[in-house]
Amino acid sequence: MKVIDVHVHLIPSEMMKEKVGETIFENKAFNLDIYRKVISSPDELVKIMDQWGVEKINVMSYSSPYVMGFDDKLIEWVGKYCSSYPDRLMPVMSANPLLDKKPVEKLEEYRSKYNSSWIKLHPVHQLFKPNAYREEEGKLEALEEIYDYAQSNGFPITFHTGTSIFPGARIKYGDPIFLDDVAVDFPRLKIVMAHGGRPFWMEEAFFLLRRHKNIYLDIAGIPPKKLLEYFPRFREIYDRSLFGSDWISPGIKSIKDNVDQFMSLQIEDNIKEMVLYKNYFKIVKF
Ligand SMILES: [Zn+2]
Repeated sequence: MKVIDVHVHLIPSEMMKEKVGETIFENKAFNLDIYRKVISSPDELVKIMDQWGVEKINVMSYSSPYVMGFDDKLIEWVGKYCSSYPDRLMPVMSANPLLDKKPVEKLEEYRSKYNSSWIKLHPVHQLFKPNAYREEEGKLEALEEIYDYAQSNGFPITFHTGTSIFPGARIKYGDPIFLDDVAVDFPRLKIVMAHGGRPFWMEEAFFLLRRHKNIYLDIAGIPPKKLLEYFPRFREIYDRSLFGSDWISPGIKSIKDNVDQFMSLQIEDNIKEMVLYKNYFKIVKF
């Protein structure tokens, strides 16, 4: 079966805060050998993707200087890294609604340079509420500009939801409920809810997925073999669910391992095919 992974992280170690680096590299479940290889060159990553049968991946980027340590340099690095394989690697662009005064100019410049058509925001590491553009939530204009830009261009925005293990992360911003406002106020915006509110907001996440046709689920960060425990009524939302692995985060052996786990679930093959591959084409804009 063909596979597209919408959620992969590649971050050079020297861009991370020391404590963040320790959290990752001292984790016994982190695969340092493969990390070193793929970070050194996209050729290595594409070779591994071929071995694992992965056709395309989204490489995440975002700027989180205060929590994670990496900033716009990472976004630039991801763009360059992906540029030699435009058909296989999509650089996911980002802006920081608290730090960027002109987020749209920045996104537009990046889009034209690296041909990105996907945005990532990380409220838990960038420290904002996804509905902070609203009057009663502080009227963060930069955020509204980002949403308007994404909506009018048809670019999906992946939002991290749920917890984070990194020091300084603020979990409260990972509550999926704030996406309810976003989905109402930006009805044509493609909202990709990463991690489905894992590990304790899944019911809320599921409700939002059913309520809003413009919210999609990215299953990254949910152990695939436990997907049906987290989302027992997954069959009601599979047509807006996307396969993401969150590789190369600690504890995720390989994209292939996640695919194998997903394939072992007791669900119909056509559903698996939609999630692993076909749904991507409903949401991405070329
Ligand atoms: Zn992630």
